[in-house]
Amino acid sequence: RMHVPMIQFKKRTGRTFSLKIILAVCVLVITMIPLAVQAKFMASYFRQSQIEQEMIEAQNKCVILTNKMMSSDYITNINNNTGNPALDAELNVTANLSNGRIVVIDGSFKIIRDTFDVAKGKTVVVEDVLKAFNGETSSRRNQEKEYYSVTLPIYKKSSAGAAATENPSENQVAGVLLMTVSTANMNLLEEEVMQKAGFLQMVIFCIVVCIDVLLVSLLFKPFKRLQQQLNIVADGNLDQEIEVDDYKETQDISDTLSRTLGRLKSVDQSRQEFVSNVSHELKTPITSIRVLADSLKGMEGAPVELYQEFMEDISDEIDREAKIIDDLLTLVRMDKSSPDMNIATISINALIEQILKRLRPIAKKRNIEVVYESVREVQADVDEVKLSLAITNLVENAIKYNHESGWVHVTLDADHKFFYVKVIDNGVGIPAEFQDHVFDRFYRVDKARSRETGGTGLGLSITKNIVLLHQGAIKLQSKEGEGATFTVRIPLNYIP
Ligand code: ADP
Repeated sequence: RMHVPMIQFKKRTGRTFSLKIILAVCVLVITMIPLAVQAKFMASYFRQSQIEQEMIEAQNKCVILTNKMMSSDYITNINNNTGNPALDAELNVTANLSNGRIVVIDGSFKIIRDTFDVAKGKTVVVEDVLKAFNGETSSRRNQEKEYYSVTLPIYKKSSAGAAATENPSENQVAGVLLMTVSTANMNLLEEEVMQKAGFLQMVIFCIVVCIDVLLVSLLFKPFKRLQQQLNIVADGNLDQEIEVDDYKETQDISDTLSRTLGRLKSVDQSRQEFVSNVSHELKTPITSIRVLADSLKGMEGAPVELYQEFMEDISDEIDREAKIIDDLLTLVRMDKSSPDMNIATISINALIEQILKRLRPIAKKRNIEVVYESVREVQADVDEVKLSLAITNLVENAIKYNHESGWVHVTLDADHKFFYVKVIDNGVGIPAEFQDHVFDRFYRVDKARSRETGGTGLGLSITKNIVLLHQGAIKLQSKEGEGATFTVRIPLNYIP
């Protein structure tokens, strides 16, 4: 379990919408809109066909009426004032049943009967009436004024009788029957359809809502599972497996999260390792000091020389402790997310010469020759203090891990982009299996030798950090027993 310091998370402001709700609403709208459109379309279709049906019916009724009028010589009789009450009554009944009005026009275009009894005696000259006088039956619908009309010719009673009805066009037209029916109030069927459709829509709506809710919650289940797994991680359990393979999307998210977790875990692990290494390293000199001090305490009347010797050893151990702490602080300072870099253009040749001047006396003690070869004059943008520390560490190591009377070559070269510093020695070298690890913190190939030379195991990791801070690279070539070559490559111009 990782102990995460309590970080104040930014409080979320602003409104967020649940994708679930958006999806559910979308599905609902997409389903219901076509249904509503369809119902509206169906209603108007019903209205249309209902009217057409009624027109045909009205025409049929009118045909019966005109036939009766013909056979009873209705027009002539009216004009003769004889009248036909039975047929008049039938006209009224037919008109009332259809909620319409029937008008009978005689040969002089005068209205001789009107079931509304308002237009008697008026003259009607309209297209359909004229057509009817030519023997044509017509029915028309006026959608704007919301009515339909049926116009039929009324033939004169022919003397031939039965033969005349078979071929009426040959008979003379005595008058015209005009029936008009308003469609304005004819919404009954349409309303019924709409009502039925409305009910059906309600039912469908309810079903769709149920399916919708079910479907959406089913669809989002994997995401919920993913969140549950993540919550376990958020609670501190980095070992929780993130695996939701239901969808490609959740699979991708799971994979990415697993990778992130893996990184977190390895950071966590290396931090733990580092802390335990630090404790161990810091304890070693203290243990030595304690042993030295205790043995001095236990020796009564020890000679002053022995005291002095022990005190010197204690002082050495304190120096060592101080060096470890110094190195640790250097590392920690460079590990910050944004370490302070004091970049300036300096001569790398001068920098290296200065370092070697400081280290030559130490090399001389073991009769080690330190040679500097510079191919050209190099000016570069670097953090002088940090780079100096990095190169010092390399040269120090080349001297430390060398044989008596060995040599150390330092070379400097550059191309148009980078400069290269090589530190070559013919010392003990580093076996291949350790080469990957020498840059790790506290890693030492030969613990005893390193201790003897005052090494902390932090030098190379500090050097590597510094090189990386300069966007550079460090490489190691070595063969056991033949020496080692460290090559540092750093850009001439600093890239922040
Ligand atoms: P230390 O403080 O022990 O020198 P470093 O991080 O500088 O720590 O080096 C890590 C280890 O790498 C050393 O303990 C040593 O074993 C090995 N090493 C480093 N430089 C050389 C070299 N030039 N030749 C042989 N071994 C080396």
